[in-house]
Amino acid sequence: MSLNLALILRESVRADPDAALLHFGGRTWTRREVDAVSDRVAAGLLAGGLGSGDRVAVQLPNIPEFVFAYFGILKAGLVMVPMNPLLRPPEIAHQLARSDARVMITERGLLEQALAGASDLPDLVLVVVGDAEVVTERPVLGFEDLHVDGAEPMLEPTDAEATAVVIFTSGTTGRPKGAELTHVQLYMNCTHAGRLGGLGVDDVVVGVLPLFHVFGLSSVLDAAVRWGSALVLVPRFDADAVLDAIERHRATVLPGVPTVFVSLLAANIAGRDVSSLRLGLSGGAALSPTHLNAFEAAVPSATILEGYGLTECASVATFNTGRGARKIGSIGTPLWGTEVRLVDSAGEVLRATGPDHVGELEIRGHHVMKGYIGQPEATAAVLRAGWLATGDLGYVDGDGYYFIVDRKKDVILRGGYNVYPREVEEALLQHPSVMEAAVVGRADDRLGEEVVAFVVTEPGLRLDPDELIAFARERVAAYKYPRAVTVLDALPQGATGKVLKRVLAGAPDPVSH
Ligand code: AMP
Repeated sequence: MSLNLALILRESVRADPDAALLHFGGRTWTRREVDAVSDRVAAGLLAGGLGSGDRVAVQLPNIPEFVFAYFGILKAGLVMVPMNPLLRPPEIAHQLARSDARVMITERGLLEQALAGASDLPDLVLVVVGDAEVVTERPVLGFEDLHVDGAEPMLEPTDAEATAVVIFTSGTTGRPKGAELTHVQLYMNCTHAGRLGGLGVDDVVVGVLPLFHVFGLSSVLDAAVRWGSALVLVPRFDADAVLDAIERHRATVLPGVPTVFVSLLAANIAGRDVSSLRLGLSGGAALSPTHLNAFEAAVPSATILEGYGLTECASVATFNTGRGARKIGSIGTPLWGTEVRLVDSAGEVLRATGPDHVGELEIRGHHVMKGYIGQPEATAAVLRAGWLATGDLGYVDGDGYYFIVDRKKDVILRGGYNVYPREVEEALLQHPSVMEAAVVGRADDRLGEEVVAFVVTEPGLRLDPDELIAFARERVAAYKYPRAVTVLDALPQGATGKVLKRVLAGAPDPVSH
């Protein structure tokens, strides 16, 4: 079967070419304009000698050129390798080499690190967005130089099963690996996820999640284009910038990781007109029911629906739709065409339901990646007989709703007992002074690991750590409550806004999503 993912853009143009697609920095681009620029980029990449399946790395924040590059690469039948702008040169070098990229598109402000990262790759062509008049020994093309004027509309016929993007992820362990996702996988995922969120032509979606991450790429950009919604690009997370975007464009949908919703609550949301918001889409990490309820109370027009997914499954695997019973705290039920099962530590499939029957979630279905590029062993470690081992622990209730209790690697083993940090965090969040909480294990000679907590207080409120420890002790079993509480100004976050527990636990931080 032939299917090019860029068809989602071409079809939206056919339906209504002059509808707004992108808003950024006071400018708007229609569907026709985005289509035309990406045609020129596609023609430019092919004119530069690239051919079917060649990889193009893109290290850009959420700016329109990201979108032009993405659709240009897809249309030309090439493969996009999106990169986190926070990567340092050795990490850039690793991802470029592993993906065997022929071209790297970056922006002026990131060029130094790109040059350093590409120093051992003399054949790699560097393209820069912004002022191309850079004085370097190495030739650098301007993004405009990629454009071929008068390019014909293009959509290279592509095998639906061909790789469309390679997204690097830490997965459950180790160094980032490049998950290969195909045209049909991404097409199906954005189609299903967008439908479950009820996306449509009247929606204006806030694009603040980084587009280099699967949640931003598939569930925000692709889903908006697929369902004809407009997208407001916000280049990096800042609560005021998000509130401005909502107010100015009367945005209706806000996809975010939980920290996005929490940060908005801490900002001056009450003084802003956010009444256009109808939907918050939370994913990427567990959303505390306390935060969900607080956000819905602060923004009565909006409902928050939670999805669960991972890079290896082209974004969303399960979704708590809100149709019928929305079960707060649940990640919902599997997407169409996706199967989820639970296995115990011996690899046996669990059949029992309820919170006493926790196992690792495994996923099978047409969204699951082909594998990690160039790493058959790492692939075989997580993909067995079509089932993807997620590294996440959870249970299913009698209605088929899944609940994540924690990530396998975050579980704390204290004196022989398993402590799920999420449960302890939820207890800490009940305290009126606590806005955010992260619980981690700290190495301990006697117990193996000790439970410790890091909290951020509600703006203007003070907190006595000993009082919080006593508060937790009343709410969870004796082996679970934190023995130490540290108050921080903010929890460390990766580029997508996920809390970096490794950093809190004292480990060095490989750049993380
Ligand atoms: P990534 O591949 O960077 O998207 O990370 C995927 C991981 O994020 C999953 O394996 C989960 O550990 C976590 N995750 C994603 N969505 C949720 C959710 N709704 N609840 C809890 N954890 C989540």
